[in-house]
Amino acid sequence: MTERIFNFSAGPAVLPEPVLQQAQRELFALPGVGMSVLEISHRSPSFEHIIDEAEAVLRKLLGIPENYRVLFLQGGASLQFTMVPMNLLAKDRSADYILTGSWGQGALKEAKKIGTAHAAGSTAETNFNRLPKPEEIKLDPNAAYLHFTSNETIFGVEFQEEPLAVDVPLVCDMSSNFISKPIDVTKYGLIYAGAQKNAGPAGVTIVIIREDLLERAPEGLPSMLDYRNLAKSGSMYNTPPCFAIYLCGLVFKWLLNDIGGLEKIQVNNKEKAKILYDAIDDSDGYYRGHAEKDCRSLMNVTFRLPNEELEKKFIKEATAVGFDGLKGHRSVGGLRASIYNAFPKPGVVELVDFMREFERKQG
Ligand SMILES: *Cc1c(COP(=O)(O)O)cnc(C)c1O
Repeated sequence: MTERIFNFSAGPAVLPEPVLQQAQRELFALPGVGMSVLEISHRSPSFEHIIDEAEAVLRKLLGIPENYRVLFLQGGASLQFTMVPMNLLAKDRSADYILTGSWGQGALKEAKKIGTAHAAGSTAETNFNRLPKPEEIKLDPNAAYLHFTSNETIFGVEFQEEPLAVDVPLVCDMSSNFISKPIDVTKYGLIYAGAQKNAGPAGVTIVIIREDLLERAPEGLPSMLDYRNLAKSGSMYNTPPCFAIYLCGLVFKWLLNDIGGLEKIQVNNKEKAKILYDAIDDSDGYYRGHAEKDCRSLMNVTFRLPNEELEKKFIKEATAVGFDGLKGHRSVGGLRASIYNAFPKPGVVELVDFMREFERKQG
């Protein structure tokens, strides 16, 4: 047996152990198929069953209504930064972006290459340690959509709900808190998420798009960048990332059947995050959270120590005892503990014990 350590990576990130075990069992030969999922044609009935089932279980988990299409695409969440404006931003319109971190900034930067797009609100001034209040958001009446990032993975700020009710389609980069809690899909025009944070391995991006928006795409888009074309072909215009889709399907089934759905996983996620944030708050300022309390992410817990030297020491010692991936992103510094759906609660408890012991030793 190879020992597993605690993986706090922001992405690709920890996957549920039962999913890894099932994939390992089935890798050599899918039951009843006699070939690996890595070897079968994407046009085969066996693979069609895999992708159909993945979609069906995701629909059940999120309660996705009939008038939404689910796409399994490539190019990462980053390609959606381009595809969203390409498909939804008409030449005579603009697009609004709420910026709460680097990913939103990246999305806006790409949108500006396609058409007119503005920051409708931003918390860059305080290094993205909070979310803008509704009154700080200035919408353009000519906007074709409003884009936001539900969880900013690098800074660790998360919207508890949609930023505000708007008439235009709400577009959300949900990469790092996708399927971590129930949401009302009907509030959205388009949701996208790179799988490698919460839904599966790297290589597939899930797009959920309201059907009427498919018609907004201008004529003549490159086929691979045209939602309408990708929807029409059932995400199989070309060879899809078969293995990644298969694994996402296993993760969805784990969430639905083993965990019991998104309400249940939300309870787990709140519990895990509370343990960690309580430890930060109870440390009399030794550990300092980056995000303001009411904006804290349940997925990515960002915090600092009294100085960089101690942060380096902490990371070094933590890594040595089996806590991997705790180094914060350079734009925030400090530490980041990513505790996605599949991250086990005992790992959070052990990290908190380690934090208390570290503080005591340095004391
Ligand atoms: C990781 C991440 C991305 C980038 O995803 P890729 O699949 O690497 O392109 C975009 N947005 C958010 C919120 C992320 O967490």
